[in-house]
Amino acid sequence: MSESAKPKDQPFHENYVAEYIQGLERRVRDLEQEKRVIEGQYLKVDREFASLRAEFERLRTPPLVAATVLDVLEDNRVIVRSSAGPHFVVTASNFIKLEDLKPSVRVALNQRTFSIVEILPSKKDPFVLGMEIETVPNVSYKEIGGLEDQIREVKETVELPLLKPALFGKVGIDPPRGVLLYGASGTGKTLVARAVAHETKATFTRVIGSELVQKYIGEGARLVREMFDLAREKAPSIVFIDELDAIGARRLETSTSGDREVHRTLMQLLAEIDGFDPRGEVKIIGATNRPDILDPALLRPGRFDRLIYFPLPNGAARLTIFNIHTKSMNLDKDVDLKTLAKMTERATGADIKAVCTEAGMFAIRDEREQVEQADFEHAVAKVLPPTRMIEASEFTVKPEKMYGY
Ligand code: ATP
Repeated sequence: MSESAKPKDQPFHENYVAEYIQGLERRVRDLEQEKRVIEGQYLKVDREFASLRAEFERLRTPPLVAATVLDVLEDNRVIVRSSAGPHFVVTASNFIKLEDLKPSVRVALNQRTFSIVEILPSKKDPFVLGMEIETVPNVSYKEIGGLEDQIREVKETVELPLLKPALFGKVGIDPPRGVLLYGASGTGKTLVARAVAHETKATFTRVIGSELVQKYIGEGARLVREMFDLAREKAPSIVFIDELDAIGARRLETSTSGDREVHRTLMQLLAEIDGFDPRGEVKIIGATNRPDILDPALLRPGRFDRLIYFPLPNGAARLTIFNIHTKSMNLDKDVDLKTLAKMTERATGADIKAVCTEAGMFAIRDEREQVEQADFEHAVAKVLPPTRMIEASEFTVKPEKMYGY
């Protein structure tokens, strides 16, 4: 009852009792509120305790030994090769379905009894998974200067079979299995391969040949096998092997054990290419600066049987490449890209890109926002001589004499 509603002549002790009860009710409410807060805190601490206990248990778990299944015996025991090398005949935990234990499956073994306690999910080497994989690169043909013939050939041999495999069936021919791009470094081989992957919406896997050369016997071949497994999983896909000469060099009679390992890797690559369905969803593109040292086995029909040469860009192509790389630059109105294209004879696409970046750097150094013709000219002088020095190995005159420094 509210204060105003109370009768005036209510006795003193009744007022006192009513106030006392109100006070008690307030206290109960406060205590309930406090209880809720404490319960919330208890829940939080309890959760933290559970997570710490789980972490503690996790840290105390003894390590398991990784192994690969080689064979399953009739009495349900399994032959495995442990990651350290030796082979063991072991039993499997009852929780593991025997039908999942197939040769080459990766498993975890108990450290003491070596029983199989778990099937490991990924059988891919971390190196393979760490490869440069782009799900549909964002480079289109528009960003490539010159190279029209090369793009047309790559389209015919890689893009058409991926996009219209039925067409080849109707005509009754198999498209080429592998395409080899060759030419000086920086002439746009990788760029074209990425653009094809973009146009065909394919996964682009790039691996450098020298990365496939491994220290232990059989490792390189395994990497090649797993790389193609991964490409098939992510199909449609394009496997791009840069510096193919690192594993594809001509085999000689006299060879060291290192050479033999490289050859094993090459044999695995050839086996993978031979096993391809030419109208399938995986395409292989190789690139090299040294086609002359490649093993003829790689170039025979049915393997890298389409060779595409990437020349140095001519004047018109250099102008287009300048236009492409200066598209988003803030250029002074006096900048004359035609003169620059004339000045950069024997430059590759990569050189021209470096010239544009360097010209921008000169402007930034001078605290200007616009890039001027002089910046480009300085950049040409700075970027081109060392590049030419590398190419100059074919000349008898020393680079210092050629460039007068
Ligand atoms: P390497 O043999 O050393 O791998 P590459 O021939 O594969 O060289 P790319 O990686 O394709 O060369 O080229 C390097 C960079 O140069 C590209 O990212 C691109 O920016 C530029 N470039 C090269 N050629 C062209 C071109 N024709 N048009 C536009 N940009 C180009």
